[in-house]
Amino acid sequence: MSCIFCKIIKGDIPSEKIYEDEKYLAFLDIKPVKAGHTLVIPKKHYDNLLAAPDAELEGLLDVAKKVGVAVMAATGSDGMNFTSNIGVSAGQVIFHTHFHLIPRKTGDRLVSWPHREYANGELSKIGQAVREKITSQKA
Ligand code: AMP
Ligand code: ZN
Repeated sequence: MSCIFCKIIKGDIPSEKIYEDEKYLAFLDIKPVKAGHTLVIPKKHYDNLLAAPDAELEGLLDVAKKVGVAVMAATGSDGMNFTSNIGVSAGQVIFHTHFHLIPRKTGDRLVSWPHREYANGELSKIGQAVREKITSQKA
């Protein structure tokens, strides 16, 4: 078993645990974007968010919300980035489903993603392509 988060669950690697129950665990990210940066994971191993079953994610979201509110309060934050990287291209490094909870404060000067303008016709084209995929998912 080479997954670092599975090792944390087993207790083979130490972590600063924030919350634990039968199915889920939350602990502090060892290299935080901001102090209090927390990771929330299911104890069952899935490679990423999309690979986990819906029922597993529902419980994970409940825990992440509860923990997220506490992280914000404990750090005196007025905002939070609640994210999950899926795939190498999106910056995923640990291939065990996790949410990042990154507490934010007004004026903390953390730069967010750069936005851009759509080219002519590009917006409706991508919109149509995604709608078609959703329709084929339903079928
Ligand atoms: P991601 O890039 O979405 O896969 O995020 C993985 C996160 O896990 C990174 O933010 C790392 O800093 C964090 N991380 C890696 N190893 C550990 C560890 N042993 N304890 C806590 N966090 C870790
Ligand atoms: Zn794992």
